[in-house]
Amino acid sequence: MRASFYQGSRTFTTGSAPRPVPQAGEALVRVERVGICGTDLHIYQGHLDHRVPRGGVIGHETFGEVVEAPAGGGVAAGDRVVVEPLWFCGACRACRMGASYLCYGLKVLGVDLPGGMQEYWAVPAARLLKVPPTLADDHAALVEPLAVATHDVRRAQVQAGDRVLVFGGGPIGALIALVARQRGAEVAVAEVNPFRVALLESFGLTTVGPDIDVSRFTADWTGGEGVDVAFEVTGNPAAARAVTDVVRVWGTVSIVAIHAEPIPVNLYALFARELNVHGARLYAREDWEEAIRLAASGAIPLAPLVSRKIRLEELQQGMEQALAGGPVMKVLVDLTA
Ligand SMILES: [Zn+2]
Ligand SMILES: [Zn+2]
Repeated sequence: MRASFYQGSRTFTTGSAPRPVPQAGEALVRVERVGICGTDLHIYQGHLDHRVPRGGVIGHETFGEVVEAPAGGGVAAGDRVVVEPLWFCGACRACRMGASYLCYGLKVLGVDLPGGMQEYWAVPAARLLKVPPTLADDHAALVEPLAVATHDVRRAQVQAGDRVLVFGGGPIGALIALVARQRGAEVAVAEVNPFRVALLESFGLTTVGPDIDVSRFTADWTGGEGVDVAFEVTGNPAAARAVTDVVRVWGTVSIVAIHAEPIPVNLYALFARELNVHGARLYAREDWEEAIRLAASGAIPLAPLVSRKIRLEELQQGMEQALAGGPVMKVLVDLTA
């Protein structure tokens, strides 16, 4: 079978490998689509070399079809599935609390363990979720980032009628905005990339472009009170500095972006308005189920988010293009091409 291997910073090679043999409890999945996300770009640049082995297979936003299933695993050959790419211990404090996605020994498939950039993938059957026939192959590959968004919106307790400001209109920020709006919130997205601004506006979302001051915009929008919920999805220190300033009394700040370095945050605003601040990472099973419902019903427009499809052999170029920025939202690898 064909597979793509991480060979160290800025290098992927595509070659052949033996088809994996499923172990007890594992299903064999024929992988059809894999999305490339920001985490993959970090891997590509060598930032996660402490987690991703040389010769490792990445890819955690996946869709495929079961070709071999263990007895009693809840899936059967022919099922169309997405993969919840998590390994957790089931015994630690986080797992016992119901937060197995934050397991103290968490491993992510496609980062710490082999992922989906291979034609066949052996995956624990318990980590598979079936998707309905109404969900197109390309859109099924977006269920993973959509589950991130349903998790973030649920954790922030966005309500109908809330005003929500999202810092960052990439794939995750856009999906958070769309899910929050589907919940009945009024949503604005701060984004600098003109291609992304145009796409967000085509969804009918309000955008705050690079030449508009976010604090001034928010003051005008909310009569000086501040928004109910703000999501920080950029990873940019300037956004982290601004995010506590735009939220109303008793409002909520959700940190979704990965800030790898400590950075200045305005704790005075947090204190003075008694803000709730939390992190939001990955997803629980219910977030996946909600994502599948939203995607399959068409409640969230997914087609315009797919900017380009590439072959597995083009992974290296695809990563370079994604890093260059420009007119890109989501790039999918089509393993059937
Ligand atoms: Zn991802
Ligand atoms: Zn655990």
